[in-house]
Amino acid sequence: MPAFWTEPDFDEHELVQLVHDRASGLTAIIALHSTHLGPGAGGTRFWHYADPAGAMRDALRLSRGMSYKNAMAGLPMGGGKAVVLLDRSGRKTPEMLAAFGDAVEALGGRYVTAEDVGASVADMVAIANRTAHVSGLPAEKGAVGGDPGPFTAMGVFHGIKAAVSHRLGKNDLRGVRVAVQGCGSVGGGVARLLAGEGAVLTLADIDAERARTLAAQLGANAVASDRIMGTPCDVFSPNALGAILNEEGIAQLDCAIVAGAANNQIARAEDGALLAERGILYAPDYVINAGGIINVSLEYLCRQHGEPCDINEVRKRIAQIPDRLRAIWQESDATGQRADVVADRMAQKLIGRG
Ligand code: NAD
Repeated sequence: MPAFWTEPDFDEHELVQLVHDRASGLTAIIALHSTHLGPGAGGTRFWHYADPAGAMRDALRLSRGMSYKNAMAGLPMGGGKAVVLLDRSGRKTPEMLAAFGDAVEALGGRYVTAEDVGASVADMVAIANRTAHVSGLPAEKGAVGGDPGPFTAMGVFHGIKAAVSHRLGKNDLRGVRVAVQGCGSVGGGVARLLAGEGAVLTLADIDAERARTLAAQLGANAVASDRIMGTPCDVFSPNALGAILNEEGIAQLDCAIVAGAANNQIARAEDGALLAERGILYAPDYVINAGGIINVSLEYLCRQHGEPCDINEVRKRIAQIPDRLRAIWQESDATGQRADVVADRMAQKLIGRG
């Protein structure tokens, strides 16, 4: 494991903790980037990393991303993230989840966990047996909580509408052509909401059957996953993988707007410049995809205060995502600076690092 302070992704993180539990075989990294606005909130990723340095990079980058995301969503939460290093078989045991819950508990509420890649609601329930500092737990009837995917989809949908209005001057989605990459929890939800407002959809998923089935339900077209980025459209909505906005991907785009949920869409800072040079309006990923963290954070805060949490409060806050996007685009238009650069600067200021 390299010294984390020599990592290019180290950004004055407040705490980076290596957790090892011999009895269960758990190895994890918990990174707290900033607790300036509140406890560091961000999910736990369960993943097999070929190289432990990759796990450290993920923990450092993702926790910083959570600081920015939570700040821009107006949440009283800082940024944190955990990664659990699974072996090649991807084995995840109840004992490992218990040991991980103990590690979260030992931080006394400075870090609040939730689902991320490789984690389920059932895993959060297991972790909750050992610590109260966990969210994304099953929602009781009418209450806030559970799978964040549909809430993320709701925020992306609002964000796409704002982008269409800002760039195309259209205040509804009727006839607007949207290419959706990834038809999973978020992408599928985004597609359904868009179809409900009359958008013309092209869908793709690496699981071609999943895309075809959804397309048949929504009256949309399905294309092969390697064709979606070059599909002529008004909006390209990435809801699958990160780093798709690289030199090759950006060259393929035939759209006016990129707006989707995938984390870390821009591969390298230079690629942000390439996207801007092409005149494509970009909705910064950590701003438009905050719906899920809004849901799990409010769930956590209500439980901590012993108060019932109103789903309408979650919806109201998600509906405010476009305000933040508009502020970014207006500043970008006025200053000529890229939207992703403007967003980073706004977030840094909010966490006291401006
Ligand atoms: P998911 O696993 O439910 O869905 C992802 C879908 O993308 C799957 O159907 C998968 O088959 C497909 N896919 C994978 N590689 C692809 C490719 N190359 N081309 C086309 N499709 C491909 O995941 P999700 O929860 O919907 O998350 C989607 C993205 O949004 C991820 O990048 C995630 O990090 C991000 N995100 C999710 C949330 C959330 O609340 N779930 C919140 C913020 C950000």
